[in-house]
Amino acid sequence: MKLIIATHNPGKVKELEGMLTPLGFEVESLLDYPDAPETEETGTTFEENAALKATEAAAYFGHAVLADDSGLEVDALDGAPGVYSARFAGPEKSDEANNALLLEKLNGETNRTARFVCALCLAKPSGETLTVRGTIEGTIGYSPQGENGFGYDPLFIVPSLHKTAAELERDEKAVVSHRGQALRKLEAEIIPFMKG
Ligand code: IMP
Repeated sequence: MKLIIATHNPGKVKELEGMLTPLGFEVESLLDYPDAPETEETGTTFEENAALKATEAAAYFGHAVLADDSGLEVDALDGAPGVYSARFAGPEKSDEANNALLLEKLNGETNRTARFVCALCLAKPSGETLTVRGTIEGTIGYSPQGENGFGYDPLFIVPSLHKTAAELERDEKAVVSHRGQALRKLEAEIIPFMKG
């Protein structure tokens, strides 16, 4: 079954493709459709933004679409950057600049607890949606470590593994990550939802 993922983010595409292909899905993304319109993320929650992206793209393609809206909530920053994680340091959405700004804002801060949140929304062209959320708790390190992953992974320490998310292989990250947890919740419901 073909599933289109409503994102241009290659990091998300790689992770979701790695999880969905073994389940029998043929995955495409907006990277395959450069002319597809980009949804404005005007929601105030991850779930709202995921639903906006999924329903708009499902209507455009006339096909089922999965959207991921995700981000980092840092307790010492009252939950920021949250839904603004991609554009924390500006509209150019630079991972490097975002990580540098995060370190700057946490300078001298001893409370480093944080979590990654992922809302996944599956939408049909009819507008019907199925939304789930996954989270992973962790702490923010003092300097970037590791080369894998994307976004804030080099600063996000997974306490049970004593490694940053960027020091994990993709399959290892999928076992513990917010995205992996959300996808496993969706997995149980995806076939009945698509057939219903
Ligand atoms: P979105 O495209 O609006 O959902 O923004 C997602 C942003 O959250 C990304 O650009 C990253 O900055 C951050 N993010 C989400 N998931 C992850 C992850 O798995 N690792 C690191 N950063 C992430």
